Amino acid sequence: MNRQDSLQGLKQNEFDICIIGAGASGAGCALDAMLRGYKVALIDKKDFASETSSKSTKLIHGGVRYLEQAFKKLDFAQLKQVRHGLEERHLVLNNAPHLARPLALVTPVSSWLEGLYFTIGLKMYDSFASNDSLPKSKWLSKSEVLKQIPTLSKSKVHSAVLYYDGQLDDARYCLALVQSAAEAGAVVANYVEVAGLEKGTEGKINVVNAIDSESGESFSIRTKLVLNCTGPFSDHIRLMANAGLEERIRPSKGVHAVLPYETLNSSYAMLIPKTSDGRVVFAIPFEGAMILGTTDTESDNIDVEPGLNEREKQYLADTLNPYLEEKINISKLQAGFGGLRPLLSAETSKSTKSLLRDHEVEIDAASGLVSLLGGKWTTYRLMAKDAIDQIDGIFGKRNECSTASHTLAGGVDYLFENYKKLVSKYGLSVDICQHLVRKYGSRAEEVCLLTLHDESLKAPLDPAYPYIRAEVVYCAKVEMAVTPRDFLARRVRLEITDWNTTLKVLPTVAALMAEELNWTAEKREQEILSYKNKIEEFISAAGKGQS
Ligand SMILES: Cc1cc2nc3c(=O)[nH]c(=O)nc-3n(C[C@H](O)[C@H](O)[C@H](O)COP(=O)(O)OP(=O)(O)OC[C@H]3O[C@@H](n4cnc5c(N)ncnc54)[C@H](O)[C@@H]3O)c2cc1C
Repeated sequence: MNRQDSLQGLKQNEFDICIIGAGASGAGCALDAMLRGYKVALIDKKDFASETSSKSTKLIHGGVRYLEQAFKKLDFAQLKQVRHGLEERHLVLNNAPHLARPLALVTPVSSWLEGLYFTIGLKMYDSFASNDSLPKSKWLSKSEVLKQIPTLSKSKVHSAVLYYDGQLDDARYCLALVQSAAEAGAVVANYVEVAGLEKGTEGKINVVNAIDSESGESFSIRTKLVLNCTGPFSDHIRLMANAGLEERIRPSKGVHAVLPYETLNSSYAMLIPKTSDGRVVFAIPFEGAMILGTTDTESDNIDVEPGLNEREKQYLADTLNPYLEEKINISKLQAGFGGLRPLLSAETSKSTKSLLRDHEVEIDAASGLVSLLGGKWTTYRLMAKDAIDQIDGIFGKRNECSTASHTLAGGVDYLFENYKKLVSKYGLSVDICQHLVRKYGSRAEEVCLLTLHDESLKAPLDPAYPYIRAEVVYCAKVEMAVTPRDFLARRVRLEITDWNTTLKVLPTVAALMAEELNWTAEKREQEILSYKNKIEEFISAAGKGQS
């Protein structure tokens, strides 16, 4: 992916579909539409996955909580959603095995009766997922659960129920979708914002007015159809297309606190089945840390990047503490992150917790705008299929959707064991090579090849992490990383797991990017300063507890 070539492509071509927003929904649609033979443009005003799609809990799931609600309320729509989620879980895991894997989750219980209740529920969950090879749920004795999660309270835990779901690196999964779409022929570009829409004689949108936020240049993209995939920001584009439409998105803020891996000291995750406000909270190992979340509060300002505040940090700690032998030391907080759920509103009076996380494809007959609204990461492929099926209808075509069996960039011929070849061929450590194959899949060697010309690129950015300098160069060269934050928050995930180390390695990352992207010294300093300010803002909002 080369951004300058993409910008030329956006200006010179006329597209069948111009997709606005390159999160899970937009990137999924771009791949699906390309595989059906459409000419596709995909643009995002920021980086790929820079909004909700990099800030999820990273679970690929049918939703055990939805299953419980479906039975309690005899709600068959929820049941259908659980089934769809579990069917998609299988495909998400299969299509990018380097970026998604099964995750063991434990729910501690305090009595025999509670254990029975969860065991029955999870057996049903298993039965809905008959098409995959994930291990089935089972009831663990007290000693078994304490062996797996040694930090749990010995006096409070009676036993636990173990079940499996999927876990993905959300930002890199989205990037793999973008790359796959680009390799199939889509013209993709980040940092291209939609500023306006123009209509032809029949009132249908045929031009997208865009701004390249890097250069400030305005230009037009000619297209037969516009697909709005802007998640929590969807109403902005809908109203831009047709001021008469009613708002449909009710964004809900969810945050995570990130603590040391040792908090659970386990490769198993934990599900807390009931919080003080009637939800579930997960404690999940991710990238050498433990992420704890999430919250669910209505968002009143979607223009401000959501972050973790002191109250939310305390709420999450208070939720986990009763399960632990030793209370969380909140001064050990490593980072935090927040996102906006693009919840679809049916009635505006409902609390965000009870709004269903399903999706809808809306066609505005007046402007021709198609919007893909709502949804969740797990069902991104299904959402894209529904949207492109509708677009097929508009174009009078009936193309087959082929994404179910399309392996994503880096997933073709992926073999985890290949890290051993990289260790012996390039003299890099086991940790580094395992990290590289997990992030770049079968393309990991492309990163290593850069070190043949420059040995210094083998050096880790920080001794505590397996991220190496060559990755910065590779991501700027090949993965369209434009700013240090693109690299540190999304190409690798240091920003969401460790703020202090992010600040520490920032000058090195900026220097490597400056060389690769021909920045002036002034631009380099400006990039460092603006990112440093952003992280310091997060640290200050989360409270002085950050070590
Ligand atoms: C806290 C939290 C936890 C979650 N956990 C899970 C989970 O564990 N599992 C799961 O399945 N789902 C989860 N979800 C839901 C899931 O993350 C979202 O449904 C999904 O990421 C939404 O993707 P999207 O592409 O629709 O939106 P986004 O990822 O927000 O993408 C929209 C894109 O549109 C771009 N954009 C906006 N305006 C413009 C414009 N004018 N011009 C150009 N581009 C524009 C934005 O920059 C953005 O990149 C979670 C959500 C949250 C908030």
